[in-house]
Amino acid sequence: MSDDLPAIGLGTSGNTDPEQCAASVEAALEIGYRHVDTAQMYDNERAVGRGIASAPVDREDVRLATKIHPTNLAPEDVRRTFGESLDRLGVESVEMLYVHWPTKAYDPEKTLPVFDELHAEGAVEHVCVSNFTPALLDEAREILDAPVFANQIEMHPLLPQTELVEYARRHDLYLVAYSPLGRGEVLDHPVLNEVADEYDATPAQVSLAWLLDHDRVVPIPKATGRDHLRENFAARELALDDSAIDRIDAIDDRERVIVPDENPWGI
Ligand code: NAP
Repeated sequence: MSDDLPAIGLGTSGNTDPEQCAASVEAALEIGYRHVDTAQMYDNERAVGRGIASAPVDREDVRLATKIHPTNLAPEDVRRTFGESLDRLGVESVEMLYVHWPTKAYDPEKTLPVFDELHAEGAVEHVCVSNFTPALLDEAREILDAPVFANQIEMHPLLPQTELVEYARRHDLYLVAYSPLGRGEVLDHPVLNEVADEYDATPAQVSLAWLLDHDRVVPIPKATGRDHLRENFAARELALDDSAIDRIDAIDDRERVIVPDENPWGI
């Protein structure tokens, strides 16, 4: 498989109804999505795996990502719970395995070597991290033998993450943008609505197109029904001109929708 990530992936957090989750993953793959994001924390790996298995696409054409829960980041737990994730997903390997948050049981010197082992064994194609600052990325890159393929972080027009965008460009890793619609919070912003009207698009598409205008940024909007899935996927075709990008860049309202219990770095 190529090392490129498709422009838009599918988020699945909160999609805990098994039937609905499996159906939305299957629908997304039918529409053309080829990157599906889940996590031990989302309690839906089994349904995500079922959705992939029943879609009319070859398993090798799908980039499947899961994440090790922060409480499972002790070395023996990474290996054991990763095996459980594979069983639930019904697959033999994943394309992307993340450290979900560098908190709780995360100990870089102990946690990361297990990710390297899983990578060397072929069970994980790409080692990934999530919610990492530049300093935490530097540390992880120093310890790991495998390259850090992606850092998954919250990013949308109200949280532009300029420092991490620059870091990703400089070190040639992907920035996977989670909550790219701000869980709906960004969709009422007047600037996004003004640009959406100009392009005969929706505010969700404008937010995604603004993200896609950045090098190496891959948004993973979560959507359940076919209408949202199609609308979001079509944002790949929306090219915003410099004036629209500049107006969105000039927004200085800030909003962070994911605030975990433990976040000493204010990521
Ligand atoms: P999001 O994708 O910004 O927003 C999802 C919400 O927006 C859902 O309520 C969805 O509704 C709605 N929506 C989707 N498309 C829409 C559209 N075109 N118009 C209007 N509303 C729309 O938020 P998210 O789920 O937090 O983030 C996306 C994914 O990122 C997650 O699912 C997860 O895979 C990942 N994530 C990772 C972390 C991390 O710590 N690594 C944290 C948070 C999220 P419907 O479901 O009804 O379509």
